[in-house]
Amino acid sequence: MSTTAQETDTDPTTMSAPTAADTPPPAAAPQAEAVIDLDAVAHNVGILREHAGGATVMAVVKADAYNHGAVPVARAALAAGAGELGVTTLAEGLELKNAGITAPVLSWLHTADSDYAPAVAAGVELGLSSPRHLAAVAEAARQVGKTATVTIKVDTGLNRNGVSREEWTDFLKDLARVEAEGAVRFKGVFSHLAHADEPHHPVIDEQRERFTSALADAKRIGLVPEAAHLSNSAATLTRPDLRFDMVRPGIAIYGLSPVPDLGTFGLRPVMTFRSRVALVKKVAAGEGVSYGHTWVAPHDTTVALLPVGYADGIPRALGGRFEVWLGDDRRPGIGRVCMDQLVVDLGPDGAGVREGDTAVFFGDGEQGEQGVPHAQDWADALDTIHYEVVTSVRGRTVRTYVGGPGGRS
Ligand SMILES: *Cc1c(COP(=O)(O)O)cnc(C)c1O
Repeated sequence: MSTTAQETDTDPTTMSAPTAADTPPPAAAPQAEAVIDLDAVAHNVGILREHAGGATVMAVVKADAYNHGAVPVARAALAAGAGELGVTTLAEGLELKNAGITAPVLSWLHTADSDYAPAVAAGVELGLSSPRHLAAVAEAARQVGKTATVTIKVDTGLNRNGVSREEWTDFLKDLARVEAEGAVRFKGVFSHLAHADEPHHPVIDEQRERFTSALADAKRIGLVPEAAHLSNSAATLTRPDLRFDMVRPGIAIYGLSPVPDLGTFGLRPVMTFRSRVALVKKVAAGEGVSYGHTWVAPHDTTVALLPVGYADGIPRALGGRFEVWLGDDRRPGIGRVCMDQLVVDLGPDGAGVREGDTAVFFGDGEQGEQGVPHAQDWADALDTIHYEVVTSVRGRTVRTYVGGPGGRS
């Protein structure tokens, strides 16, 4: 969610408490809300720990925990037995440290001219991808007067971030030198897979080979890693042979299957995206609804207006191609999705839906197959992946938390 979204410290008990005459009614729920279930985070970490065997689970909480809120998710994941945290930027690492989190935090995507000093001072561990990055971190460590803990990202075939094969030998020499000098402590080596969501893809085995040979190169010159890690969510759940010392699941922490064709793995979606009915009204047969009248009522009907639109993360491209859970059933979204609002058809009798009722765009699917829509439904309709669906919720959406260590965030 964007920085404009507030995080509210909602006590889950106030949301369902009966309104007794002597207690004030609960504050109206937000017009657009992302409810984050921290108990589901704990549940998912438990599943990942089982698959990880003895390997440590590093919970990946980059991009503000895939838009679920980095600090509360990190705390819930650690309380459930994750051992470390992974993020991309230095700022993301600092946010966790500034919140008082003492578990190891690895930040792995920077430019060589990034300002490493605050991260080194705060004890954020650094993933490095070139001799230039290493030199900059060593310099920051000297300035701050503190040893930087580093993990080397080696490119084994994704050809994105990571030390390239041409630079690997030089990189190791530089690393041995600055480690001997005391500027850095060498902790680990990691790499990232290109085809993890296709568990039998031959490139996975090729990357594994290259990874083990990179580890052997390091060991040969006396650089023995404490922690080697290669697996994201998909590999953690499908390739036990790639566990090494640690696994780095992201999307599975949030309860979304990294290989949807293989099922849910028992994961529970953490985010429920919902809104409340602002208005219920009749629309006569032949009337068009919303901009451009792309939907025309085939018969007299009743519609519900939801005060949420593309500025809040409901893609305009989804217009006419999604359903919401409302009034104990799935109801079709009709006409164009606008910036601030969209319309749902309730059918001729209105299905008993009232103003103020909750409409769920996607969530934990508790109601079963044809029940609450799933982020995957949007991904299918939009020809994308659920990672993009959950990270797109934004705008005026307010994030609230339920469950978690101590029952609140
Ligand atoms: C994002 C990321 C992960 C987590 O990937 P998922 O597919 O979400 O499990 C792991 N490692 C690296 C390097 C990443 O960038």
